Amino acid sequence: MTEKTLFEKIIDREIPSKIIYEDDFCIAIEDINPQAPVHVLLIPKKPIKKFSDFQKKDKDLIAHIFLKVNEVVKICNISKNFRININNGAEAGQEVFHLHIHILGGRKFSWPPG
Ligand code: AMP
Repeated sequence: MTEKTLFEKIIDREIPSKIIYEDDFCIAIEDINPQAPVHVLLIPKKPIKKFSDFQKKDKDLIAHIFLKVNEVVKICNISKNFRININNGAEAGQEVFHLHIHILGGRKFSWPPG
């Protein structure tokens, strides 16, 4: 059996987190090291390692989590201006290899990102 990812441990309540939203397919938690006044991680419960591992069979899940972004930003009162970000691979800044969408808001963002 492979070891659980950090986010699986959070999903299984083995590690505490501040849960913003949860359903059968995904969970949204506050990031422990926020980069903006609102910084939420939206995580599919299925432990897909990274975005580029998504397959055609995951299309319902993909639609589900992207639709959930628009619910989570409403819950967090940032639905007018927000940024979503997915780091895919270590050189793109991915540290936790369990796919997650960063949802950030509550401040002005610049472009390009660092
Ligand atoms: P990434 O670099 O895209 O893999 O993002 C991983 C994110 O997980 C970072 O923003 C971390 O701050 C966040 N993180 C790490 N450990 C925890 C934790 N225990 N609870 C909530 N967020 C965490």
